[in-house]
Amino acid sequence: MAKRNSKQFAVIGLGRFGGSVCKELYRLGHEVLALDIDNEKVSEYVPFSTHAVQADSIDERALKSLGIGNFEHVVVAIGDNIQASILTTLVLKDMDIQNVCVKAQNLYHQKVLEKIGADQIVHPEYDMGIRIAQNMASEKIIDHIDLSDEYSIVELLATSKVHNKTLIELDVRATFGVTILAIKPDGNINVSPMPDDVVKKGDIIIVIGHKNDVKRFEDEGL
Ligand code: ATP
Repeated sequence: MAKRNSKQFAVIGLGRFGGSVCKELYRLGHEVLALDIDNEKVSEYVPFSTHAVQADSIDERALKSLGIGNFEHVVVAIGDNIQASILTTLVLKDMDIQNVCVKAQNLYHQKVLEKIGADQIVHPEYDMGIRIAQNMASEKIIDHIDLSDEYSIVELLATSKVHNKTLIELDVRATFGVTILAIKPDGNINVSPMPDDVVKKGDIIIVIGHKNDVKRFEDEGL
């Protein structure tokens, strides 16, 4: 059931990507319209959406009759049929939907989507490949979020090099230009660490900074 401050989302295309977006938004308590051209997919998503409907998303009249124009966010998760993905995005932007997020299949697809005004373009397989490679390549990186091409938030594992040191002693802002946002000892989280808080080996340190500075901290500071 939708919670009080829920948003309205429509997810077009219920493949693996669109399907998982739909299920997670619904699990988080949002209103989700799930749409696919394939009736079997639609039936599969009845338990995981507020409404599940069969329609061809390039059919502007069908989208209008479903009230898609009133949705705050629409996700276009049609992969293989690039033409349908582009036409759907065009129809949605013509309806003045503010947040249209589209899954791109390749660079050419992305370029067209940029031109026709898609608000967010995602490459789930490509992005996840990079994320997994980066996490595998470093024993110290637990996870990271890219904020832009230059800045990120990274979860790093505290090694013996920083064991029993206070944040003042580490002085990471002056030395590496990164800021410690939080320390996670033993499953707890200290979200506003004080200068005299102590880091132990095995704690997770969450830092924000320029990617080059975070890398320098990871290589030289830990
Ligand atoms: P994934 O990798 O996420 O599983 P994919 O990138 O392989 O998906 P497809 O399987 O091609 O993408 O498409 C995803 C879904 O979009 C499918 O369930 C398909 O039925 C649906 N779809 C394709 N064209 C349309 C359309 N014109 N209108 C609505 N749904 C569509």
